[in-house]
Amino acid sequence: MTTADALPPVRTAGRPGPSAFRLLLSYVRPHRWALLTGAALSLLTGATGLLLPLVARGLIEDLSHDRSVSGKLLAMAALVVTNTVVGALGSYVLRRTAESVVLGARRTLSSYLLRLRIAAVDRTEPGDLMARITSDTTLLREVTTDSLVALGTGGLTLVATVVMMGVVDPVLLGVTLAVIAGAGTVLGTIVPRIHRASRRAQDAVGVMGASLERVLGALRTVKASGAEPREERALHEAAEESWRQSVRAAKWSAAAGNTAGLAMQLAFITVLAVGGARVATGAIGIGTLVAFLLYVFYLMSPIQQVVGAVTQYQTGAGALARIREALELPAEPAFVSVELPSAGAEPAAVAFTDVRFRYADDLPYVHHGVSFAVPARGMTAFVGPSGAGKTTVFSLIERFYDPESGTITLDGRPLADWELPRLRAAIGYVEQDAPVLSGSLRDNLLLGNPEADEGTVARVLKTTRLDGLVERLPQGLETLVGHRGTKLSGGERQRVAIARALLRRPRLLLLDEATSQLDAVNEAALRDTVADVARSTTVLVVAHRLSTVTTADRIVVMDAGRVRAVGTHRELVAGDPLYAELAATQFLAAGH
Ligand code: ADP
Ligand code: MG
Repeated sequence: MTTADALPPVRTAGRPGPSAFRLLLSYVRPHRWALLTGAALSLLTGATGLLLPLVARGLIEDLSHDRSVSGKLLAMAALVVTNTVVGALGSYVLRRTAESVVLGARRTLSSYLLRLRIAAVDRTEPGDLMARITSDTTLLREVTTDSLVALGTGGLTLVATVVMMGVVDPVLLGVTLAVIAGAGTVLGTIVPRIHRASRRAQDAVGVMGASLERVLGALRTVKASGAEPREERALHEAAEESWRQSVRAAKWSAAAGNTAGLAMQLAFITVLAVGGARVATGAIGIGTLVAFLLYVFYLMSPIQQVVGAVTQYQTGAGALARIREALELPAEPAFVSVELPSAGAEPAAVAFTDVRFRYADDLPYVHHGVSFAVPARGMTAFVGPSGAGKTTVFSLIERFYDPESGTITLDGRPLADWELPRLRAAIGYVEQDAPVLSGSLRDNLLLGNPEADEGTVARVLKTTRLDGLVERLPQGLETLVGHRGTKLSGGERQRVAIARALLRRPRLLLLDEATSQLDAVNEAALRDTVADVARSTTVLVVAHRLSTVTTADRIVVMDAGRVRAVGTHRELVAGDPLYAELAATQFLAAGH
């Protein structure tokens, strides 16, 4: 796995596709009323500002005719106060709504990532996916307020101002629009550059997340290998790339903003010149020119708003595209809670019929027609050289992947006919490297069955020989195990994983033995535990030790993606050369 091929690249090469915008709308839709309220308040703020020039014109005319201006002054004061209060309220409502949009996106995205198919996760970097939930969603905040709302309110204010300008003097309006159109052409070339740079900046954040996850997940190995300088360089490179692209985006955003500013100043000067000439010829009065210039001044803000909205949207569109890509990864159906099997539930039978499977279309087959049948109850061991496809058998039973052809049945029913949560509720699965999650020992044990009562927990702790450990720990079950259970030994981690699986009362236990995690005493204890469990449950064990194999009811010998032989230890030692060799070397060596 490399950090470079995080997710398929965005399909819309330059500009954001319309579906990125649709995705944004889907997050905004639930909050449309709040957003409209905020926008309305902003508009009201704009409108009160818009009335000021009119009152100002009246005031100037009153002054030149020696009339009293106290009423107009009061009106102006009232407008200014309203403008401030409504403005503050509006920005609060908008900011709050924007935060809700971010919340909505984070919720849907995190639910979706939990549902991702393992095959999809195999092709991605968890750190990059993490960045999509945390960092990319944050950008939606600005897109919502600074972009959507600003585009709406700014656009409306712009139209209203232009209408007012047309009313005051259509000729001067024509002059103003000509200058603005020129600026628009320049902006058209700048905007796509902002989008490209922002997208790359967010991708770099994703790469950084992936590198961080890689390093922090294996910090011991990194330190032991003296690989800090190289990993440091990779992290810095990702951070710097994000900086470079963000700076590039900032540069183009600044250029866009300043182009708009420059256009307005040019418009101001042009209007002053043309308007001055019109006053001189008597076409318009001085009051009209002053009012028009004030409107040009007032146009500045909505224009800057609209340009800012467009550039801001380009920044967010990169993030939106990244979010959309994550939401396009193959996922399982929405999770539904199901009951765990009852205490005395019948054990399950499993069968593979001619199963062909590969992890991806461009990878070699891992199973070339695997067939075996395991009846309900009893212990079946899977043995074979490393890479034979034993762990893959378990992954297929859990439906982390689906076979390309052939069928897998549980209780005679094809797995595809099982509702996924119900299938997984029937199975207890102990992974090869027995992961333990950070949190307390209790959190870890109850992960798969939070309702298990104290008596059951105590019983399972005893069967898995964890009772001694819990007693020794000052905080007992509340002891924190560290990130990935680093405060436990390998053997303890595996027993915690087994206890966790047993607490789900599985009808089928899949136990992928760790190769050499248990000492002789614990191994004997575990063998007894598994034998116990196998009396009431179907147990499949990927076995690396002779002790597990000799007591198994049947052994499936796998080699290079095929089942070579099935039989008991005694039968196979006599009948299968590969098994005899494995038994002679691997099991004995790994066992002790
Ligand atoms: P075993 O458990 O018998 O050692 P596995 O079932 O783990 O073997 O693996 C069988 C083959 O599939 C190996 O060659 C391994 O490299 C490959 N493999 C395992 N998991 C994946 C995966 N997630 N993606 C691609 N290839 C995989
Ligand atoms: Mg394996």
